[in-house]
This record gives sequence, structure tokens and C-alpha cells, in this order.
Amino acid sequence: MFCQVIVDIAHEDVDHVFTYRVPQGMKLTPGMRVHVPFGRIKSVEGVVVELMESCDLPPQRVRDVTDTLEDYPAVLPNLLTLAHQIKDNSFCTLASALRLMYPAQMRGERVSNRYKEYAVLTVDPAVRGQVLASQKRAPKRAKVFSALMEAEGGELPCETLREQLGDYRAPLQTLCKMGFARIEKREYLRSPYGAMERLAQEDPELTHQQRDVLSTLIPAIEAGRGAFLLYGVTGSGKTEVFIRAVRRCAQLGKTAIVLVPEIALTPQMVMWFRSRFGEDAAVLHSRLSPGERYDEWRRIRRGEVRVVIGARSAIFAPLENIGLIIIDEEHEQSYIADSMPRYDARELAQLRCEAEGAALLLASATPSMLSFARAGRGDLTLLEMPNRVKNRPMPDVHVIDMREELKGGNRSIFSGAMLEGLRRCLGEGKQAILFINRRGYSTFVSCRSCGYVVTCENCDISMTYHSSENALRCHYCGSEMPMPKVCPECGSPYIKQFGVGTQRVEEEVKKLFPDVPVLRMDNDTTRTKDAHAELIARFRKGEARILVGTQMIAKGLDFPNVTMVGIVAADAMLRLPDYRSAERTFQLLTQVAGRAGRADSPGEVYLQTYDPEHYAIEAASRQDYRSFFTLEMIRRKQALFPPYTLIARLLFEADHEEQAQAAAQEAHRRLEAFLERRAYLKKFVISLRVMACPVKRIKGKSRWQVTLRIVDKPVCQEAVGEMSAIAKTAADGCTCVCQVNPPSMM
Ligand code: ADP
Ligand code: ZN
Ligand code: ZN
Repeated sequence: MFCQVIVDIAHEDVDHVFTYRVPQGMKLTPGMRVHVPFGRIKSVEGVVVELMESCDLPPQRVRDVTDTLEDYPAVLPNLLTLAHQIKDNSFCTLASALRLMYPAQMRGERVSNRYKEYAVLTVDPAVRGQVLASQKRAPKRAKVFSALMEAEGGELPCETLREQLGDYRAPLQTLCKMGFARIEKREYLRSPYGAMERLAQEDPELTHQQRDVLSTLIPAIEAGRGAFLLYGVTGSGKTEVFIRAVRRCAQLGKTAIVLVPEIALTPQMVMWFRSRFGEDAAVLHSRLSPGERYDEWRRIRRGEVRVVIGARSAIFAPLENIGLIIIDEEHEQSYIADSMPRYDARELAQLRCEAEGAALLLASATPSMLSFARAGRGDLTLLEMPNRVKNRPMPDVHVIDMREELKGGNRSIFSGAMLEGLRRCLGEGKQAILFINRRGYSTFVSCRSCGYVVTCENCDISMTYHSSENALRCHYCGSEMPMPKVCPECGSPYIKQFGVGTQRVEEEVKKLFPDVPVLRMDNDTTRTKDAHAELIARFRKGEARILVGTQMIAKGLDFPNVTMVGIVAADAMLRLPDYRSAERTFQLLTQVAGRAGRADSPGEVYLQTYDPEHYAIEAASRQDYRSFFTLEMIRRKQALFPPYTLIARLLFEADHEEQAQAAAQEAHRRLEAFLERRAYLKKFVISLRVMACPVKRIKGKSRWQVTLRIVDKPVCQEAVGEMSAIAKTAADGCTCVCQVNPPSMM
């Protein structure tokens, strides 16, 4: 027997299979990880992708597989197929696509299994009483023995014995010698959120909307096909639909994946599932400790769990027999991985569903333009929940024109109306959320004499002031510098911070309400592993009355006691040079507003803006997705933006600007020549440009781009194919990636 192996070296030159002989007696199946000799390297890890009866190579050139790393395939056959698809779509090596399929810690065997010791009685239950009596003279031994006797199954973890009896070890060892007990080492799996409270909850009676949606969804799960878009307003009870659908899946003996857009949202979803689902839910995301991730992965791989909850990378969960994949808040950009290998978890979900006979459910209160357009064409079946549970009203949104506030002499960050709303909410004993798009204290630091703006040395981006360290930090590369006392450009002392960030909001609130406990949730306060879950739990328990935060608190979270939401600055995102800025603004505002009034008291939202007439803000204030969608589609059609067109870009990064520029210009010429030869493609091209990226430098790399905007027709994929071919041949010292409708155009 022979096998084809992909070695775990992610380099173009070795991006193909190598043939090895399977030694006598070694049991191999595709997807198993093996050690093989490779060139002069004695041993590298690899994944078996195929087995073969024979091989064309001369026998002396074929070497043996050294050994296997596990006795089961680490990469399931369907995930092997998925890795091939990722390689083809994102133009990465198969080795790097395969690395997505098992925890990084398994490579190089960097994690070890954990064991727990158990004390187990070995005497027949019928004679235990006699044995206990015989130990009368040795009270410690008798205590250990009787503790084990009383325990279920006549066994206890040694840990428990220690807690209960203190000094248990010597007596237990004697019992073992006497043949009455033994100590067993058993493997145990570390589990994230283990300490989380489990509130066993009854099923609520479904609303009509929920019942209708489930009556379409469940037959699809049973039939193992179908792709759905659930458009349900904030607070319409989408989670309940998920729970019931996943439960049905489990009844059918199938498994499910539930993806949430942010790690911050996993604890809440896990809590819901743990308290309602009956069975346990596994968790997969990048903030787990290496040990936890490895153990969760193995629990899933062994078929011990029915549902996996996690962020983007949980789409690779090694589940078999999938019946349903749910993507909550499907409009979120975080489903796109922007480092290599690039992938869109929503696309992979669809591929997995089609290949594995599962139903796909995308859900959102603000579906992405692309998905809603696909539902319009019938590629996705639209399911709707237009009302909140129990006919709770949508929150009342007050739009506040900040230009008027300024005219009226109010220069603080809060308008009179917002402050009053906050006072009223606190007075009624409720909780409030204050949302601001930016972490840090201010958005930038600038000199009032000469206009100089402090920018990062490595990035073409202004630095953000962080008051707790009195320092400036770059949010792209993380570099820091002390706050300058005078302008580095002209020496003027009038250098100060402008704009508003979360720290500033927190500080202002503390000044205004010194006795009210405030929590802040942003990238800076959630660096440690469990910080997300802890902050959410503390706010839910009422330890704080006001939660200040960034997008992290904008979506998905369900805090029944929150009746007031303040959006401190609604327009920051509107001004980004991106065709999706209106869509992003609408989504974010609608989601934030949706945090208010989710239980029995109605919600109030205060939205501060300098641009109250903008259609995105207008529609968000009415929570009117359909009218936003209609207007935005008209605009996109007129301006020829996706979904009517597709935008592909080649992004070049190099240490020196000239390198990036030269490579981009060369690519531009090649692409131009290519299109020149293909008149049938050229007529669909709207624009083909080469230029420096809007953010010219990130992390010390200069950035140039070639952008192609072309009508979205199947034939136009050919142009994208050419671009990715060009991307592979970028000059030395320059990296190039090809992106289609990239999540960020910066
Ligand atoms: P969405 O995700 O659609 O914004 P959630 O799923 O968070 O909404 O539900 C909003 C609130 O309504 C939650 O507190 C949830 O417990 C509650 N809820 C959902 N379905 C029902 C139901 N059938 N009966 C009563 N309460 C419900
Ligand atoms: Zn200056
Ligand atoms: Zn930087």
C-alpha cells in the first residue's frame, strides 16, 4: 500500500502531494496525521490525503511512513474536501488550509492530555459492610472506605477525598495494598466556561412567528437540505428558534453548529444552550486556552457533543452527520478571515451544508445587502419575524441634531436630551448602555497652532489617546508613545486630544454620576481570556448601572434590564471611504438601538448625529430595514457597486514604497493587456485602477492596490482568476493577495 501525503510546510514549492509507502501492519485512512521523512529532514508532520494500491515511482525512491500521530483521522473526509475548496478559492497552499482543521497545538505535539486520579473500590458491594467493620482499628482507613462506599459506583476523584478528609492518601494506599481499592488515572477534558451557572429553564410557549418559521425550517432539517435567511427584528426571539431547531436536529441523531460573530457573544449563547438544550454544547474560538481548545476539539471529534458554538473558526468543527448550521448576525464582517488563508465562514457553511446534507440558516435583524438580495432572487428562502416577542414595542428613537446643541452652547459630549434620558433611566432603577465607536480616550491628537496630527511611525494612521496610561496608541499595530507636551512639528504647547472614545465617555459619566457604578467593555478591557464573559455577567447581575462600550456591546446581547441606549456619535462610520459605509452605519445603529427595551419595560434610544437627514440614520431611527434596503439598492445600482458589480483588488505590501508601487503598476499593465485581448470581458469593466491604498502604511509596510470593478456576471470570474494568477507571481520582497469584495477597502 502507498499513500499520498501533504507535508505540513506551507510553501508554494511543496504545495503538492508526496508518495510514501505504508509499512506492513500500519493502519492508515485518509485524514490521518503521520510523521514522514522529507528530503534531508528526518521527520515532518503530514496529513494523508489518499491511499493507493500501487505507485508509478521506482521503489527505491519511495520512503516509508514513519508513524502515525493519532490512531484516528484528525481531518475528517468532508473537511479534507473543504480544505481543497479553500485552497482553490483563496489561492493558499493545501497545507495551510489543512491547518485550519485541527487545533494549532496539535502540531508539534505541544499539548498533553490531562489526567485525574480516581479511587475505586474493588470489593463486591455485598461484602463491603464486612470490610468496613474489619477496619475499625484504623479510623482513617475506615473513613476513606466509607466515603467510597457511599459514593455512587463506589468511586470518587482523589481530589474530592482530599477536600472531604484531608489526609486520605496513606490510608487509601494501604486499602489498595489490601486489595480493597485501586487508584485509576483517567483522562479528563478541560471545558471552557465550566463554572458558568446553569439555570435549568422551561421552554417558553412559542410565538406565532417562531412557530411559523420552525414549521418551514424543521422539514428542511429532516430532509437535509435548504438555505434560509431569517430576517427577524431585534428582540423577535431568534435564539429560541435556534434552540428548537438544534434540539430537533439532536432528536434526529444529527449535530449542529451555531456561529456567532464575536467571541464576546459566545458565553451568552453557550449559557442559553446549556440551560435549555439539555445536552452539553462545545465551544470553539481563538481565545480558549490551548488545553481547552484541544480538549473541546477532541470531545467534538469523538462524537460526544451534539452542538458546537463558536466564532468564525468553529465552522471547522470536526462534527459528523451535521443537520444544521446557523450563522447568527450574518451581516457581520467578522465572518471573513482576513489573514491567510482567507475565507468567508458563510460561504464555507454553505459548502459544508451542501456536501454534508444539512440545512443552512443565516439570521439577522439587519441582513447584509448581499444576502437579502439573494433572498430576493430565491437563492435563499426568506423567513420573517417582523415583531418583537409578546408584541413588545420597538424602542423609541430620539434623533438629536448635535449642530443645534452646539448652537445652543452645549459643548459637552452629551446632548441635553440624552442626559435627561440617562437620568430618568437611572432614576427608575434600570440600566443604560452608552455606545461609542472608538476605544481609547479620543480619536486623534492634534496641534491647534499648526494642525499637525500625531500619526503612527509604522502606519499611516492617527494615534489614539489613552488616558489611563497617558499615552498614545496605534490601533493598527499596537505601538505606543507618551503623550507629547509640545507639538513635535512647531513646538506649540496647544497640542490636545480631539474626538471621543470609550475612556472619555466613561470618565464623563463618572463625573456626572459619581455614585453610579460604570463598566467599560472594549478591546482594552477584554484582553484577558475570560474578560468578556465576566464583564457581561457582572452587568447582567446589576453590578453596574451603565455599560460603556464599542461595537462589542452593539449586537446580540440580551440584557433585560436595559431600557436606555445612548449612541454618543452616530456618524463616525458614515465618513469612511467605503461603498458599504451607509450599510454598516445602518446595521450598527439598528443593532445598538435593539439592545433597549427587550423585556417588559419599553426602551428609549438617544442617537446623536451631525447628519440627521442621512438616509441610513433616518432609516435606523425608524428601525426600517426594508426602506433602507430599497434606497441602498437603488444607490448601488446607480453607482455600480456590489451586488450589481464585484470589486476585486490586488493588495501589494512591501518594506519600501517603490517596491509596492512598481509591483502594483506591473500587475496593472498585465491585467490591462489581459482584458485588451478579451473584448467580451472588457465591455463589463467599469474601472481598473492602480493607486496607493487609502491607508498607505500599516505595520511598517507600504501598501498599493490594483482595483477592478466589473459587472457581476459568471463570465467575469475569468478576470478574477487572472488576478489571482498575477497575485502568485508578485516580485520578491513584496506580498500580494487577491481579494474579492474585500471586507475593508482601506
Ligand atoms: P433576538 O436575537 O431576535 O434579538 P432574542 O432571541 O434575544 O431576540 O429574544 C429576545 C428576548 O425574548 C429574550 O429575552 C428571550 O428570552 C425572550 N423570548 C424569546 N422567545 C420567547 C417566547 N416564545 N416567549 C417569551 N419570551 C421569549
Ligand atoms: Zn504644531
Ligand atoms: Zn501603527
